[in-house]
Amino acid sequence: MHDILADEYIFYQSVFEKAEKVASYYGFQPIQTTILEKTELFTAGVGAATDIVEKQMYSFRTKGGDHLSLRPEMTASIMRAYLEHGMHTLPQPVMLWQKGPCFRHENPQKGRTREFQQFDMEIIGEPKPIAEVIIIQVLKSIFEELGLSIIVHINSIGDKECRPAYRKELIGYYRRKINNLCPDCKRRLKENPLRLLDCKEEKCLELKAGAPQMANYLCSSCKQHFREVLEALDSADIFYVLDNHLVRGLDYYSRTVFEIFENEGSGDALAGGGRYDYLAKTLSKKDFPAMGVAIGVDRLVQLMRDKKILPKQKKQPKVFLIQLGNAAKYKSLEIIEMFRKAHLPLNQSISKDSLRGQLNLASKLDMAYALILGQQEVLKDLIILRDMRSGNQETINLRDLVEVIKKKIAYD
Ligand code: AMP
Repeated sequence: MHDILADEYIFYQSVFEKAEKVASYYGFQPIQTTILEKTELFTAGVGAATDIVEKQMYSFRTKGGDHLSLRPEMTASIMRAYLEHGMHTLPQPVMLWQKGPCFRHENPQKGRTREFQQFDMEIIGEPKPIAEVIIIQVLKSIFEELGLSIIVHINSIGDKECRPAYRKELIGYYRRKINNLCPDCKRRLKENPLRLLDCKEEKCLELKAGAPQMANYLCSSCKQHFREVLEALDSADIFYVLDNHLVRGLDYYSRTVFEIFENEGSGDALAGGGRYDYLAKTLSKKDFPAMGVAIGVDRLVQLMRDKKILPKQKKQPKVFLIQLGNAAKYKSLEIIEMFRKAHLPLNQSISKDSLRGQLNLASKLDMAYALILGQQEVLKDLIILRDMRSGNQETINLRDLVEVIKKKIAYD
């Protein structure tokens, strides 16, 4: 877990602002679900035999005896909220975005932390491929706005009609190789065989290359669905590669699964998602087909920093407010407020006392003007305006201050 300081925060802010803006254009509405959830939401929703639930959740028992977890991902929470608040009675689909932290007890390494920020989008109540296409189009636009081009790794993992036959074939294949599997995969073979394709151990990766591919087992409706998704990506000029062994680490996915990578890079996935037509039924006994994605914002910020893509800076202050004495300190708050209401950025250091210290700071920050407020000026509602380059000073009336500054700055 790590703290985000000011110079890094502007990157996060820029990603979130861009993502919110693009998502809103496409009709996504904000939602903010709780960070703590009942543990059973994730054991049922994400799947008891997934790495996330088995190994990575921060779970605890409260004094009242409840079993709670810090959310390891957002989809299950958003579906819970959709069901709990009767959003199925609204016009469908319901399109939602959410931002904030998720928590997984993973081995910390580059691009992988235990607290990480996601920007998540979900389309609930839409069975057709248009949901996939909207989500991927929105992602493309967000990344483009940030100066990055993407490539989509995509696969279909079928549905409850066709996946059992594939599962059987996969189990058969790996049983024949059982002696070469890592201990985790030996267990996965019994509990969750699709997860074998997710293993990052070298020897398991070698075996994966020869494993059966879901594409050869898709039923006709899954095939048709996947074909439509790919055709729509083609016509939207979105680059993709078919990744026949992509399954992703959560149980709720059906049909389309995908991950987003930077087009030129070879780094970690920047986002991942897919269709989850059965999640609602797991939680509520009702069927609501859905599709979603989560962007890994920390990875995106790191990539922007590596590529020196700087977020657009907000208007930088050109004026520094200096106060001398207690009365001036309090009067400063009024002046800061005057500037805030006029949308003029202002720098100051309320805790500093000496004129020299404050002037030094103003020139270190390369300010064009300093405003000097002493005891005398406070009494007479005046203020001294100092041009930091020439050193010239003039005394002006406080009520004219904002207008004078606006003119001066417009001149610069
Ligand atoms: P997931 O929720 O596993 O589908 O992940 C979606 C995206 O979140 C991934 O593509 C990553 O960019 C990001 N992500 C997932 N886990 C972590 C983590 N532990 N640290 C940083 N980013 C993560």
